[in-house]
Amino acid sequence: MSQDMVWHEVYEALGHEECPVCKLVKKAVNSYIDGFLYENVNDPMFQERLRKEKGFCNAHSWLMHSFGEPLAHAILYDAFLRDALAEFNSALPANAKRKLRFRSNLGSQSKENQAECKLCKLESDYEKSYLRVIDENVSSQIDFKNKFVEQGILCVPHMKQYISLSRNSESLNLVQEIVYAKYQDLLHCLAEIRRKNDYRFTGEAWTDAERNAWTKAVEIMVGRKMYEK
Ligand SMILES: [Zn+2]
Ligand SMILES: [Zn+2]
Repeated sequence: MSQDMVWHEVYEALGHEECPVCKLVKKAVNSYIDGFLYENVNDPMFQERLRKEKGFCNAHSWLMHSFGEPLAHAILYDAFLRDALAEFNSALPANAKRKLRFRSNLGSQSKENQAECKLCKLESDYEKSYLRVIDENVSSQIDFKNKFVEQGILCVPHMKQYISLSRNSESLNLVQEIVYAKYQDLLHCLAEIRRKNDYRFTGEAWTDAERNAWTKAVEIMVGRKMYEK
């Protein structure tokens, strides 16, 4: 994807008062799975590569399962299961077998899996390219900056990632200032929810922001719900 296209994608995604990185990564992974299930699954070269990588982590396997496609799964899992059987039945001595590094099923939480699962790798590459666009543009391009000021936010995991990869201190300061102010707004809404649950104030109407705040708090703290279609 060209840098111009990435810029436009990030710019568009800024207009929704949610983490643009979560939104775009989810879209990119879903469209990759879509293409993969409908086109690549019949490509023998692609299948072979996937077998070498031993499939996907738990989270991405179930995400892919949620797309349906029994035939694509029958083709893929026939190969995966045969490979697993061959590995179990291999003529290695017992002590060597114990050392076989079978994939754990801890999903994308496991660092080891993250290195192996193609989709975890894809997510991580996309995250970095979107965050770099923010870093390169937020302090220098006025349109981009205005949109970020008005509607931009980053979830906590992507904020941490941004802090560690930023190379532009002006952008970093700006993003921190904007995002932390929005976290403060959210904290205010959470405080209001608590206050309005007190019997003395239960008659007070909730604002739209307060009605959404408890869901938004989860989204900001852990990122968007990624592993469902
Ligand atoms: Zn995010
Ligand atoms: Zn994965």
